[in-house]
Amino acid sequence: MLTAEATIIEPSPAALRSDGTPRSYAVRTLGCQMNVHDSERMSGSLEAAGYVAAEKPEDADVYVINTCAVRENAANKLYGSLGNLAKTKRAREGMQIAVGGCLAQKDQGEIVDKAPWVDVVFGTHNMGSLPALLERARHNAEAQVEILEALETFPSMLPTKRESASSGWVSISVGCNNTCTFCIVPSLRGKEKDRRPGAILAEVQALVDDGAVEVTLLGQNVNTYGVEFGDRQAFGKLLRAMGEVEGLERVRFTSPHPAAFTDDVIAAMAETPNVMPSLHMPLQSGSDTILKAMRRSYRSKKFLGILEEVRRQIPNAAITTDIIVGFPGETEEDFQETLRVVEESRFASAFTFQYSIRPGTPAATMENQVPKEFVQERFERLTALQDRISFEENHAQIGRTVEVLVSAGEGRKDGATHRLSGRSEDNRLVHFAIPEGAEVPRPGDTVTAIVTSAAPFFIIADDTSQYSVRRTRAGDAWDRRQADSCGVPAPSGGSSGAVNLGLPTLRVGG
Ligand code: SF4
Repeated sequence: MLTAEATIIEPSPAALRSDGTPRSYAVRTLGCQMNVHDSERMSGSLEAAGYVAAEKPEDADVYVINTCAVRENAANKLYGSLGNLAKTKRAREGMQIAVGGCLAQKDQGEIVDKAPWVDVVFGTHNMGSLPALLERARHNAEAQVEILEALETFPSMLPTKRESASSGWVSISVGCNNTCTFCIVPSLRGKEKDRRPGAILAEVQALVDDGAVEVTLLGQNVNTYGVEFGDRQAFGKLLRAMGEVEGLERVRFTSPHPAAFTDDVIAAMAETPNVMPSLHMPLQSGSDTILKAMRRSYRSKKFLGILEEVRRQIPNAAITTDIIVGFPGETEEDFQETLRVVEESRFASAFTFQYSIRPGTPAATMENQVPKEFVQERFERLTALQDRISFEENHAQIGRTVEVLVSAGEGRKDGATHRLSGRSEDNRLVHFAIPEGAEVPRPGDTVTAIVTSAAPFFIIADDTSQYSVRRTRAGDAWDRRQADSCGVPAPSGGSSGAVNLGLPTLRVGG
């Protein structure tokens, strides 16, 4: 039975140096969005125990690597990083190194065999034990390896340190009951465990109370949510419940699975105003033969049917996807099928992957592996096609008025181009101009702008004839965070009225 109570993490004596000052930590994340969110929990657990975030990761007293077993070369990356950290550790007395996440769950004690300078190895089911394991490793002066085979506490019950004031991730389920033959997740994260709707809503409400205006619901397979407590329509109901949360402006979710993507979910998306018109729907392959070999139970016709229905009910929906090229047995004909489905699907963007063997997955031992040069060549053809479609789809936005949720630091060239950046409602990256002398938004505020040009991976909104800024609670929250980090008191209260703290803010050159 999973506990539903918030986990209390006690202050740890190991979080203090001998002079009484707090030890610092850094968490490095490898892998997917799930891992990014898990890293927020690791940071939250460490801060609850008394550690503070290191100003520079390379100076941290405790260095945590949150690993991934899904992506290519994960093990090489991990052991490469650990090799570098060994040198740092030799030069810094008292430094500790911890390894968590999927690869830790998979390799377990092997990690300390290969890298004996690692102090703690913990798995995906016991992230909250990190402070206790660090303390034990320090006390016993020996490595601690603790991997649980099943979840004891739902990870969302752990303290979390959110990276963004305006947006938060909320886990609705962990694990997966599917058995896709390329995927290591089912063996590492276990069977699907669903959180109760009340617990999810309480967490969403807490995020909103804290200033968030956007929430992304997370699960390996979000739309099977409810399978554990026997309600097949639970995900659609959950989306509708999100519509009732006052102050929650943008709801997203990732990832759904086409097999169980039912009409009630599409209807809930269309009828709930704060559920955004964007959908990430993993295709993986357009060939029915390959989908079968992948053990993905939908076929390309069904996939295209879902997209058609989504666009019928939500005409402005931007749909993105994941595609694997070169799965074992993939022929040129199979690949042509993928190109056909991609052409028909008109994805706004796609994450494209070259298949490579993941030890421990059924596909790893399939005999008909595709030679690397074929995979590479097909990959290049696919990305060229998708880049063209992405460009055309973005180009079609020119002239549209978009509402942009301003982000902190998303546009790398903003300083040089005098623009700021954010996400439109359909989740496109938007770089927008600010008229001379006009109000500059804070991260978390929203801006209205008109799209003027496009590239495959972003759109530009330089027409400022309708420029306006809407100050939001998320912008206020950003002000408060800035004030906290500078030790300046921030005014509390709503989003009305100008708040000028004289604090450093985003620079927009004239
Ligand atoms: S649906 Fe398939 S790819 Fe996704 S987590 Fe489950 S097994 Fe892996």
